[in-house]
Amino acid sequence: MSLLTLENVGKNYGKLEAVSELDFSVEKGTIHSLIGPNGAGKTTVFNLITGMIRPTSGRIVFNGEDVTRLEPHKIAQRGVARSFQQTFLFMEYSVLDNVLTGFHMRSRAGVIKEFLHTRAAREADKKATEQALEIVDFMGLSEQKDELAGNLPHGHQRALGVSIALACDPTLLLMDEPVTGMNPTESNEMVERIRRIRDRGITVLLVEHSMRVVMDISDMITVISYGRKIAQGLPDEIKHDRQVIEAYIGEDTDAA
Ligand code: ATP
Repeated sequence: MSLLTLENVGKNYGKLEAVSELDFSVEKGTIHSLIGPNGAGKTTVFNLITGMIRPTSGRIVFNGEDVTRLEPHKIAQRGVARSFQQTFLFMEYSVLDNVLTGFHMRSRAGVIKEFLHTRAAREADKKATEQALEIVDFMGLSEQKDELAGNLPHGHQRALGVSIALACDPTLLLMDEPVTGMNPTESNEMVERIRRIRDRGITVLLVEHSMRVVMDISDMITVISYGRKIAQGLPDEIKHDRQVIEAYIGEDTDAA
């Protein structure tokens, strides 16, 4: 069953077609990778799905609902989260407090209740803290929960970015190059966590340049080049697709 469908989506910047006639669906419960050479339009697709930019043409359907023209916060409320890059972390806050910001983003009412210091607010806070601790543990950050985000090594900061997104309780998690800049150990840990996120019932749409990671982790791969879909298939099919090899994999030394 499709969770997300892009139907004939296009995005122009003047004469440049950043995305063109793009059709693809992401099935519920899968890790789906979107790959393509630099400038292929991957970031633009993420911005379109999250409502940061509006398509010039076409339709985006999430969970059976047309979300093409919804505001970003409305799309987020419906269960689409994007894992935060390092630059979105509150470096002077602890790991746990960073994750708690994800809960506050989820519920504005929570912030108002907190202000009123009601019993309900204290209970909600307690519950949020319990859930935040569970996420911190799930992402392997238990030992660092009181550490300032700014003091964490790169791999842990990326894991924290994902934790904040998980605090938003997503149905679909968009991950933008989650292993970039990581050493092999950190990268393997992140790959394992992404699998566990899927196994938790969260559908993952991934943009990643490392072919090793993409081939290892993906249930399905969509390949775009110059904003257009050139192939879609299982990792083994994509690995051997002539058009893909010419457009992309041939130039990536990490492909083997
Ligand atoms: P990379 O892998 O390098 O991050 P990408 O696949 O994410 O690239 P996009 O960033 O989506 O590619 O860019 C697709 C095309 O659209 C590029 O030619 C880019 O220069 C262009 N583009 C993206 N955003 C804008 C903008 N705001 N104004 C004009 N052109 C843009």
